Amino acid sequence: MNPKIWLSSPHMGDQEFNFVKEAFETNWIAPLGPHVNGFEHDLEEFTGAKYAAALSSGTAALHLALIMLGIKAGDEVICQSFTFSATANPIVYLGAIPVFIDSEPDTWNMCPDLLEQAIKDRIAKGKKPKAIVPVHLYGMPAKIEQIIAIAAKYEIPVIEDAAEALGSTVNGKAAGTFGIMGVLSFNGNKIITTSGGGALISDDEKIIDQARFLATQARDAAPHYQHSQIGYNYRMSNVCAGIGRGQMRVLTDRVTQRRKVYDTYLKYLPEFSNFDFQTEPEGYFSNRWLTTILVNPAKNNGVDRETIRLCLEKENIESRPLWKPMHLQPIFENYPSYINGQSEGLFNNGLCLPSGSNLSQDDLERVISNIKSHFHYISQQKEI
Ligand SMILES: *Cc1c(COP(=O)(O)O)cnc(C)c1O
Repeated sequence: MNPKIWLSSPHMGDQEFNFVKEAFETNWIAPLGPHVNGFEHDLEEFTGAKYAAALSSGTAALHLALIMLGIKAGDEVICQSFTFSATANPIVYLGAIPVFIDSEPDTWNMCPDLLEQAIKDRIAKGKKPKAIVPVHLYGMPAKIEQIIAIAAKYEIPVIEDAAEALGSTVNGKAAGTFGIMGVLSFNGNKIITTSGGGALISDDEKIIDQARFLATQARDAAPHYQHSQIGYNYRMSNVCAGIGRGQMRVLTDRVTQRRKVYDTYLKYLPEFSNFDFQTEPEGYFSNRWLTTILVNPAKNNGVDRETIRLCLEKENIESRPLWKPMHLQPIFENYPSYINGQSEGLFNNGLCLPSGSNLSQDDLERVISNIKSHFHYISQQKEI
């Protein structure tokens, strides 16, 4: 059996281990310390956000963001439907109601027209949404300028889920820095990883101070443990932040490498197939976290995405359908939703290909030739 090719696996540079070693040597094995501060500083520099709080996960960052906007049980929060469940879960942690919005075809993210329609409709029904959570999926930024303009018109705050989009920009501005808060993730499969972790970024110092306070059990200033608010244990450990500091030194390379993976697929797959690729609108820059293809059987001699996925799986190559939209998930299907069919179509035809920055040229050739051989086989069958 050939060695496994993963969808997206951790890719360390040569400094991460030194930072972790330093944490051990100085005994900073705690959810605070110099690496946490250093990592936050690196994130601020890279994204251009004025402030960053390093946290235990992207999910924790979303949870705190919603708490700080005062979201309470029964409130409605608008959320992109086409996403990973971690975008929607924290809304439900608070007893609030997610209102799901479908995607538009250019970026596959939240459709601004449906968003405005939903806001008007929720207001007409007597409940103005308390927040809007768009997502920059697979590294492709959402139509964030349009979304921000609509949000401003109705005075609703925006929390950007940029968990997959560190390194992506719109007109030179980093994904995650358009809304009042942005959420980043450093889980094991993201463009950089701290083995597990996340961050909240914002230009508002008070918000980030409050996030750090809530993330460390909401301790009031007193020599004893004094609490006037409910706290959380959501801070990033100094050991993990050490990994993060090393990863920040190679982040720009990682973006370049992932974009090269995309370019390689784009160069070779169309030679024998008619897959659709995600393209960057004018002014958009995607970190190309995952390369995704749409496999329309009508344009590909009857080959569908599941055929390709199973064929790759047999060859020990991991690929994955696109995210199943939240409005189609058993746990979320009864919440309100504004749907145009876009995300369901993406889910039915879409496939994420191995996209790690550590894939070798040989790995990529293996993926491409496996798809190609199967494709020929199928198309020959169809032609007979
Ligand atoms: C990974 C991810 C999250 C959650 O981040 P964690 O650090 O894994 O908690 C949230 N939203 C999206 C879109 C993600 O891909």
